[in-house]
Amino acid sequence: MGKIALEFIDSKSEDLSRLAKKIWEYPEVAYEEVKASNWTAEFLEKEGFNVEKGAFGVPTAVKATWGEGKLLIGFLGEYDALAGMSQKVSTEKEAVVEGEPGHGCGHNLMAPACVDAVLGMKKEMQEKGLKGTVVFYGCPAEESLTGKVFMARGGAFKELDIAFSWHPIAKSSLTLGLQLD
Ligand SMILES: [Zn+2]
Repeated sequence: MGKIALEFIDSKSEDLSRLAKKIWEYPEVAYEEVKASNWTAEFLEKEGFNVEKGAFGVPTAVKATWGEGKLLIGFLGEYDALAGMSQKVSTEKEAVVEGEPGHGCGHNLMAPACVDAVLGMKKEMQEKGLKGTVVFYGCPAEESLTGKVFMARGGAFKELDIAFSWHPIAKSSLTLGLQLD
């Protein structure tokens, strides 16, 4: 990936920051991510992705695909909130509504950032006439570590050659899934 992708990613950052802020302001816990998954799906649909809501038999899972043939490259984004973590946009602990859900570890950023990544890849592949398929997976319930399991049970991920995922944390690391067959 090169300059074309990165420039395109930058050009979309304002729209995707808005999506991240909306998800922050409307926190939904595991399997209740109706608005977050719909907003994410709508965004990708407008950008020319083939979008499936309720993917793999999981109501708030999304699969959005663009391109054709190998390699199949997946980006796994999340959008679920944490119970009892209601929080204003502040560096101090300060609830919007005490006891209500909120985004404690940045899941409101995870789907939008992965959307930005797939948009950048699509743009670069289009401009260079590269073959391959880019897939965004909207994965519910990362906080309870079950969303991807149900998605896999419904057939997700096995089509991929490589998968990227990320999570906000104090250090940078990369989770990389590679299927060898
Ligand atoms: Zn988390």
